[in-house]
Amino acid sequence: MKEEVVIGLEVHIQFMTKAKIFCQCSTDYLGKGPNTNVCPICLGLPGSLPVLNKKVLEYALRTALALNCEINQVSRFHRKNYFYPDLPKAYQISQYDWPLGFRGHLEISIPPSGVRRRIGITRVHIEEDAGKLIHEGDIASSTYSLVDYNRSGIPLAEIVTEPELRSPEEARIFLMQLRSIVQHLEVCDGNMEEGSLRCDANISIRDSQTGVLGTKTEIKNMNSFRAVKKALEFEVERQKKLLAKGIKIVQETRHWDESKNITVSMRGKEEAQDYRYFPEPDLLPLKISPEMIEKIRRTLPELPESRKERFIKVYNLPEDDAEVLISNKALGDYFEKASAFYADKKILINWVRGELLYNLKEKKIEVEQSPISPEKLVGLLKLIDEGVISGKIAKTVFEKMFESGKEAREIVQEDKITQITDQNELIKIVDRVIEENPQSVEDFNQGKEKALHYLVGQVMRYTQGRAKPDFVSQAIKERIKN
Ligand SMILES: [Zn+2]
Repeated sequence: MKEEVVIGLEVHIQFMTKAKIFCQCSTDYLGKGPNTNVCPICLGLPGSLPVLNKKVLEYALRTALALNCEINQVSRFHRKNYFYPDLPKAYQISQYDWPLGFRGHLEISIPPSGVRRRIGITRVHIEEDAGKLIHEGDIASSTYSLVDYNRSGIPLAEIVTEPELRSPEEARIFLMQLRSIVQHLEVCDGNMEEGSLRCDANISIRDSQTGVLGTKTEIKNMNSFRAVKKALEFEVERQKKLLAKGIKIVQETRHWDESKNITVSMRGKEEAQDYRYFPEPDLLPLKISPEMIEKIRRTLPELPESRKERFIKVYNLPEDDAEVLISNKALGDYFEKASAFYADKKILINWVRGELLYNLKEKKIEVEQSPISPEKLVGLLKLIDEGVISGKIAKTVFEKMFESGKEAREIVQEDKITQITDQNELIKIVDRVIEENPQSVEDFNQGKEKALHYLVGQVMRYTQGRAKPDFVSQAIKERIKN
């Protein structure tokens, strides 16, 4: 059998509205005590009635339109029934057969070749989030669990793709590009670690000759791009091994165990009928006029693809650099801000992709929280241009700026790390190095270039990198001649 991997994704994004979806409770609950942002509606108390937050509809329309969806001019809410302690009403208000958006697509480009693939979007619908369970100790030996309803009623969109992704890597790329889109739309911050973007995946192996689909499994609990790729890779191998042995694959939901790098069975997969969907009687059908759709379509912001084109054209960046910048909206914003004060984009992008991204990743800080603002980075680059410090020293200054949040000029003054511009002082050091290394001088005289590099290195060592290498090299040659 010629095997083909078939992957479909279900992505939940958390909308950045100020209030929850059906009540006026604030969505800003991080760091607040448990059950502080709650009211009778999001606690599901009897007699309370939901009222749709208009902003949620606007954000969902933006998302659906950016994903090239058709919009149902009448769409409605359903109750999805299941019992779980984090769901106080014992049903979730969601959308079922009349989702807001349907039949869309997202065209992804696969680096490094840039091959484009169009992935179908089955639907985009609105729903509410559930609360959060906190288990005492580990889940197996836990004697009791606590529940926090702050997250109950947080607005979500669920984005479902067609099973058209063909590899774990494609799934990862799709997810990254989708995140960049929702960030550019300013509807979701896309933070996977904090759960504002969550991804479940359906995966099966198909016989590509007969086209017969295999049994699919669903994987949950992948909370980084890397985890999505690794979990899917594991699952592809697991399914292939079972098929090779002639063992049937069970349709089930599996959990990605990040610490063990395996997927484990959680439960049998539910079918739609298990949820006994029925129309939500407390909410009117959503009527969306063509004018409203047009108004939102017209005001869609610049999306990553066109931003990339602009970066290439306006800043003359290579495609690869532009790709990195648009992969995270905040990073693109950072570059554009710095660009306004600094002309040489090539130098700028090198610092952004190099030192900045490296340090952010190392210290696990988001671009928005970078201790070095775009203005401060430009301040550092200008010191190099003015010859005050060398590029090498600048890297040390950058680290200190990152630690302290101080301006480059301040650090250079405090640590007295400006370049030595006093030529007499430098010549003294050059002479000393020549005197201490007669063998290298001899080697240089016999035409060994390497000996000169060594001597320059010695001067740099004495000056702690505060000399200009080309000046030193010239000075050594002259002093040896004399
Ligand atoms: Zn509430």
